[in-house]
Amino acid sequence: MTENAVRTAIVAACRQMNALGINQGTSGNISVRHGETMLISPSAVPYETMRPEDIAVMPLGGEYGAWSGPLAPSSEWRFHLDILRARPEIGAVVHSHPTFCTTLAITRREIPACHYMIAAFGGTNVRCAPYATFGTKALSEHAMIALEGRLACLLANHGMIALGESLAKAMWRAVELETIARQYYHSLLIGGPVLLSEADIAETAAKFETYGLREQTEPA
Ligand code: 13P
Ligand code: ZN
Repeated sequence: MTENAVRTAIVAACRQMNALGINQGTSGNISVRHGETMLISPSAVPYETMRPEDIAVMPLGGEYGAWSGPLAPSSEWRFHLDILRARPEIGAVVHSHPTFCTTLAITRREIPACHYMIAAFGGTNVRCAPYATFGTKALSEHAMIALEGRLACLLANHGMIALGESLAKAMWRAVELETIARQYYHSLLIGGPVLLSEADIAETAAKFETYGLREQTEPA
């Protein structure tokens, strides 16, 4: 993919977040690994007016926090950069404030193994990182710990983060995370979930290896 194609894909994915109902307003932000750089959505720009040339570029190595572009990068560049630096298998990071993920995060709940789709996030739960002010290094440090061995986490009193090998995979995971959050929330209203075992989730994870998720989530 050329840098311009990545810029265009980020703008499209930002608009898609709101159209899919997993974000609203100028909340949320998206980054994609491109060679030795991170391309990231600018801070506080409405997605309808965001242009590909507004996407900021940050080096993955070298000076921490250096950026170029016409507009400042997302205020959450720290956790985007920290994730892409620490986890070479990750190609994209989606952060948003979906209602059900955020509702659980406000009550500081993690998402347990209430549905087999929990396996899509790398383990038997999706953790909730402790609260820290948006845009801080402390928030990034909390998120990095909550994401250990996982492909998503909730952020207390804030929202969620979903990771992917590609932007398509990260977006797919963001939608799946809000779906399982909604299902878990509703199960809490009618007596609470019956949870699956570690063995159940391990079996699902093994089946996912051959399920064809790649074909379903990658553009043709
Ligand atoms: P930005 O507009 O700076 O990306 O911030 C939105 C957000 O969700 C902060 O957590
Ligand atoms: Zn946020």
